[in-house]
Amino acid sequence: KQVMTHSQYDYVKSFEIPDPCLPNCWPVVRIDGKNFHKFSTTHNFEKPNDDRALKLMTAAATSVMDLLNDIVLAYGQSDEYSFVFKKKTKAYNRRSSKLSSVVVSQFSTSYVYHWKKYFPDLELQYPPAFDSRLVLYPSDKNLRDYLSWRQVDCHINNMYNYCFWKLVQSGLTHVESQERLKGTLSGDKNELLFSQFGINYNNLPQLHRKGTVIIRDKERSTNHLAKIAR
Ligand code: ATP
Ligand code: ATP
Ligand code: MG
Ligand code: MG
Ligand code: MG
Ligand code: MG
Ligand code: MG
Repeated sequence: KQVMTHSQYDYVKSFEIPDPCLPNCWPVVRIDGKNFHKFSTTHNFEKPNDDRALKLMTAAATSVMDLLNDIVLAYGQSDEYSFVFKKKTKAYNRRSSKLSSVVVSQFSTSYVYHWKKYFPDLELQYPPAFDSRLVLYPSDKNLRDYLSWRQVDCHINNMYNYCFWKLVQSGLTHVESQERLKGTLSGDKNELLFSQFGINYNNLPQLHRKGTVIIRDKERSTNHLAKIAR
C-alpha cells in the first residue's frame, strides 16, 4: 500500500480527535430503528408484536456477532439491540466511533439482506435506517443494571402495547384507548387484560415480555453462536 508522507495536507489528520474506550470498562453499543413507528405501519407489522420482525432483528444481530468475535452478549427488544463487547477488547484499537459504526452498518445491511427470508410475501418499501451509540460501563453491576433497564423498558412497553392494541381491536379509537390507559399502573393493566379480554399477562410469550438474549458459546468454535436464549 502507498503511504503519503510529509505532504502539505498531513496536518488535517490532526483534526481527528482520538475517541478510545476507557480501559477496564464494558463497551456497549445500542442500535435503534429510526422512526420504526412509521416503518412498522408501512410494512403492516402485526400489533403489538410481529414475530417475523423480531426474528429478523435477531438474525441481523447474529450477523453482527459473527463479524465481531469480541461481542460476548446481545440483548434485543422492539426495534433495538444492545451489543456487549468484552472489557479487554482490542477491536479497532478500542476506537468508539469505529466500533459503533461498524456494528450499526453490519446490522442495517443484514436487516435488509435477510428481509425476504422473514417477509417472503412483502416487499421492502424503503431502506430502513438505524442509529447507534456507544456507552462504557465501568463495573459489572453497572452492566447488569443496564441490561435490566432495557428489559424493564421491554416489559413496560409491552404491557402498554398489549392493552392498547386489545382495546383498539375491541373497537375503541386510538385516542380512546390512550385515554383509557392514561394513569394506569401495572396492576391496573394486568386486571384490564384479565377481566376484559381473559388474558393472563404472565402467560404471554416470553419473547414478547422479556426480549431476546444472544450469548456466544465458548465451548464451541469461536465463531459459532449456539444458544439463543429468551
Ligand atoms: P479496513 O477495514 O482497514 O478499511 P480495507 O481493506 O477496506 O481495510 P482500505 O484502506 O479502506 O482497506 O482500502 C480499501 C481497498 O478496497 C482498496 O485498497 C482497494 O483494494 C479496494 N477497493 C475499494 N474500492 C475499489 C474499487 N472501486 N475498485 C477496486 N478496488 C477497490
Ligand atoms: P425513533 O426514531 O426515535 O427511535 P421510533 O418510531 O423508532 O422513533 P421507538 O421508541 O424506537 O420509536 O419505538 C419503535 C416502534 O416500532 C414501536 O413503538 C413499535 O410501534 C414499532 N415496532 C418495533 N418492532 C415491532 C414489532 N416487532 N412489532 C410491532 N411493532 C414494532
Ligand atoms: Mg478506505
Ligand atoms: Mg426512540
Ligand atoms: Mg426506534
Ligand atoms: Mg426503540
Ligand atoms: Mg476500508
